[in-house]
Amino acid sequence: MGSNIASIAKIAVIGAGVMGRGIAHVAALAGYETRLQDISEQVLEDALKVIGKNMAKGVELGKLSDKEKEEALARISRHTELAEAVKDVDLVIEAVPEIMELKHNIFAQLDRLTPPHAILATNTSTMSPTEIASATKRPEQVIAMHFFNPVHKMKLLEIIKGLDTGEATVQTAVEVGKKMGKETVVINEFPGFITSRISSLVGNEAFYMLQEGIASPEEIDKAVKLGLNYPMGPLELGDLVGLDVRLRNLEYLHATLGEKFRPCPLLVKYVKAGRLGRKTGKGVYVYDSYGGEPPVQLDNI
Ligand code: NAD
Repeated sequence: MGSNIASIAKIAVIGAGVMGRGIAHVAALAGYETRLQDISEQVLEDALKVIGKNMAKGVELGKLSDKEKEEALARISRHTELAEAVKDVDLVIEAVPEIMELKHNIFAQLDRLTPPHAILATNTSTMSPTEIASATKRPEQVIAMHFFNPVHKMKLLEIIKGLDTGEATVQTAVEVGKKMGKETVVINEFPGFITSRISSLVGNEAFYMLQEGIASPEEIDKAVKLGLNYPMGPLELGDLVGLDVRLRNLEYLHATLGEKFRPCPLLVKYVKAGRLGRKTGKGVYVYDSYGGEPPVQLDNI
């Protein structure tokens, strides 16, 4: 296998949604030449705006200089063509929706379109990197790099080894993560890894409480924050993650790990209604503007 730590200079991020834009942000700040790709021109435009805004906030807070911000922004290019985005990169981080068929399709293309030495990583929250790797002829260079939302603020990078993931690939993922300012944990593949398995259960249980009418969203979130010392309540976290993303994770864990992950019907109903959380301005809570703050409770349980 040709990959080693020193060879990573160019990173492509596939999907410029909630996670892809955050990954592009930390990749560019870490000094990597960053290609951000999405099928939607509009999403790419929005992504660059959000990255610029978040970096400007970092400057305001004294976390980076204006020069570092400008240089990082200049390192990001945007692409709608996959082939163009990945043709000479060393590492790809995929962040498209949590649908196995879609990820499979993209990894099969990446296998054809990237240089042979390139490492192919997925930001999947729950799915099997082994299954994703089976779409390629380089399973030893496929790995899951699971970032957290918001990527530029969250400390952890969960790295998941598939069945055939090579040690050099693991080490490279750890080093790239460190360069991006992350703490890493390396684990063996199992559905839901560590974090999504816990978070999905807690988030689903909070939705059941809401459905049962035992308390308001504020009370559930407050109890979990102050009584269990979680930094965020499970319902506000669901809105941040995206209720559609949360539902897909639960569906996958339900299919792979069984009954305890059956998605709460109220969550399913919210997603059907288009109440996806901050990204649509309305989820469990209502936001004053697209993705804005503060949460206002909806009264229609
Ligand atoms: P999202 O819906 O916000 O973004 C997905 C993006 O992928 C969209 O912009 C869409 O246009 C784009 N896309 C769809 N098909 C594409 C294709 N064929 N090629 C290129 N782009 C395509 O989703 P997200 O929340 O960013 O989640 C992405 C991945 O990250 C999922 O696997 C999810 O499970 C995982 N994840 C999400 C979170 C979270 O908090 N949202 C956290 C960790 C991991």
